[in-house]
Amino acid sequence: MKIRIRKVQRKLKEENLDALLVTTLTNVRYLSGYSGSNGLLVIAPQRSFFLTDFRYWEQAKKEVKGSKIVFGERDLFDDLPKLDILKSKRIRLGFESENLNCTSYRRLKNLLPQALLVPTEKLIESLMMIKDQEELKTIRKAVQITDRVFSQILNFIQPGITEQDLAAEIEYMMKKDGAEGPAFDTIVASGFRSALPHGRASRKKIKQGEFVTFDMGALVDGYCADLTRTVVVGKAKARQKKIYDLVLKAQKKAIKSARPGLRGVELDKTARDVIKKAGLGKYFGHGLGHGIGLMVHDLPKVSSKSGDILAPGMVITIEPGVYIPKWGGVRIEDDVLITKRGCEVLTQSPKDLLEI
Ligand code: ZN
Ligand code: ZN
Repeated sequence: MKIRIRKVQRKLKEENLDALLVTTLTNVRYLSGYSGSNGLLVIAPQRSFFLTDFRYWEQAKKEVKGSKIVFGERDLFDDLPKLDILKSKRIRLGFESENLNCTSYRRLKNLLPQALLVPTEKLIESLMMIKDQEELKTIRKAVQITDRVFSQILNFIQPGITEQDLAAEIEYMMKKDGAEGPAFDTIVASGFRSALPHGRASRKKIKQGEFVTFDMGALVDGYCADLTRTVVVGKAKARQKKIYDLVLKAQKKAIKSARPGLRGVELDKTARDVIKKAGLGKYFGHGLGHGIGLMVHDLPKVSSKSGDILAPGMVITIEPGVYIPKWGGVRIEDDVLITKRGCEVLTQSPKDLLEI
């Protein structure tokens, strides 16, 4: 935690800030280790303070590393004026502008009239993009659980079972296998619903001959995995095979291309071009991927608009899809670690079209 805080302190200098107020809980967790739901950090060039309330005393004492713990009111802003480092005149205090609402901003202004509030953007998120060894170990654990649960869920797929039943089994098995739970609401989308990229599991029953798309990920110590596979119930028809093979080809091409120095938009293009060439470009309406970490949709972005540059230590998803309204869709998603020379595919679930 100390190394991470030191990196923020270096950033303070670059941004000409006297202190930074961290209110985004995932960022607080990243910089302190605290996993509770009420806590904030004030980071100054030489010191760092963690604030929480009575309900989290014991938890904070156990978890928080690298910052001095200050116990205060339930509304943590009320304690900010008591911090010495915030008392000096015209102090330049950075805040996370993307995650502080107007009401909180106004309160902050009232409580700290002497401070100059400076909006910052993605200051900590940009540090979080590069994972350290400890984080990678945790992500690998989350990925392994997800792979295991996917292989087990195949035994449950049969005509007549509902999407919701399958989603419930998935989330139960994740917990039984050591996950805190699912990293996001499990997607099970079958038949015509597989054309919905984010089709949350419904009461629809699965039928013979349909595609079933699973998008699932285990959560381990706050870190997310994110895996998508599409399977066919019974024998695949020619068109199903054709679309599946196309998406797989696009996905494999992107994996082959992923390497440090490449911009998100360039990686997106490698897969998109394959699908465009087949005349199905309009059916691939989302970005190729995204970073994962303490958030399931994290930086860097891998999309047709992303200028983010890939670097070793980033973990991203590669997930092209083709969604044909009323007919169905296919998405194949892997989690990939950017290495010095290229990438390492973390998720190991099979990718050849499974006929269940
Ligand atoms: Zn996913
Ligand atoms: Zn994803």
